Amino acid sequence: MQKLPFCSAEKLREIASVYPTPFHLYDEKGIRETARRVQAAFSWNHGFREHFAVKANPNPYILSILKSEGCGVDCASITELMLAKAVGFEGEDIMFSSNMTPAEDYIYARKLGATINLDDITHIEFLKRNGGIPEKICLRYNPGGELHIGNTCMGHPWDAKYGMTRPQIFQAIRILQNEGVKQFGLHTLLASNSTDSAYYPTIARMLFKLAAEAHEMIGADFFMINLSGGVGIPYRPQQSPANIEEIADDVRRLYEQMIEPTGMKIHIASELGRYMTGPHGCLVATAIHEKHIYKEYIGLDACAANLMRPAMYGAYHHITIAGKENQPNDHIYDIVGSLCENNDKFAIDRPLPHIDIGDLVVIHDTGAHGHSMGYNYNGKLRSAEVLLQEDGSFSLIRRAETPLDYFATIDCTPYFAAIQKETEALEL
Ligand SMILES: *Cc1c(COP(=O)(O)O)cnc(C)c1O
Repeated sequence: MQKLPFCSAEKLREIASVYPTPFHLYDEKGIRETARRVQAAFSWNHGFREHFAVKANPNPYILSILKSEGCGVDCASITELMLAKAVGFEGEDIMFSSNMTPAEDYIYARKLGATINLDDITHIEFLKRNGGIPEKICLRYNPGGELHIGNTCMGHPWDAKYGMTRPQIFQAIRILQNEGVKQFGLHTLLASNSTDSAYYPTIARMLFKLAAEAHEMIGADFFMINLSGGVGIPYRPQQSPANIEEIADDVRRLYEQMIEPTGMKIHIASELGRYMTGPHGCLVATAIHEKHIYKEYIGLDACAANLMRPAMYGAYHHITIAGKENQPNDHIYDIVGSLCENNDKFAIDRPLPHIDIGDLVVIHDTGAHGHSMGYNYNGKLRSAEVLLQEDGSFSLIRRAETPLDYFATIDCTPYFAAIQKETEALEL
């Protein structure tokens, strides 16, 4: 299947003439449509809530779009909580699914009234001392062993640092009941980027069973089952998107079988990140160099510091060349950035049309875990973020970093004048 960007070549050129490349571009229309689709799919469940995983795209403008669609957020650090508050999320809009949590993070999460997702049994005492135990709390489960879906092994939860064992969940519930907790949530996250439509139903079955057993055996009352994130997107042209309606319907059937007989009124929550915004972003860069040695290279003005996934996980990101979408892919290129690291390659041996210097290179599916994983290695600066609005207009929702941003955290009193002078001279 042909995989095209959400934005036409003309529009990309127009945007690039206003905001120089590289930049991440986001599609408001696509984000809204996905949010509506997820909520419609789970509308059978009273109180269903998608808590967007902030780490996937921590831009307040993106968060406020999701807020206006009725989503909450999932945060994991004090700064993500501050961001959520600034956008107007409050109380149970916010899931706080952290691990190895610093004391000040718990204190602040409690102050905001966020739903605490306890990663470990030892955090009960820690939370008691730092923020206090709330009346409703969520527990993160780690089933151990291997996660199988059909004949496929999806992962090794025993190897993951997150969550509590089954005996610990029961023990934690007893302790927390004595601490005055009235209602519990259950959470687990066992996969990343799973396009298998059985992933959510598999963990729903696991959590529904645990909740029903804890209800029957120790009288625990549950208010929420949180299926968390991990639903994948089709990064490759031959992949098809996860069918969220079918997934939600399978979860409904399990809910009817396993939860309804218990009489508990449980709402389903999700903490999708990638699924919500991943396909609705792209990294737009310019081809600035070509190099012919043992292989053919195209050098971009973007690098792994703007999009880490290919370098870090060998992840595939589809690439198209603006205006050459329908030309034959009759050249083989490595598409690379400028870091002094040989893994700084957006694509290796990728069939693409002939690329000219100055072409706009569109790296797809960067709307989640893209800009947010950025870093400053080699003194590279984080790029701008631009929002393509529903009416076709566009606006800058984060400016690109400047050298002064890069130097701002150093006590550079003795150097500051020199850096500032240089920045001004270079008009950066
Ligand atoms: C990363 C993360 C998510 C989102 O994961 P996606 O793969 O982007 O859906 C949700 N919940 C928690 C606790 C996470 O750490």
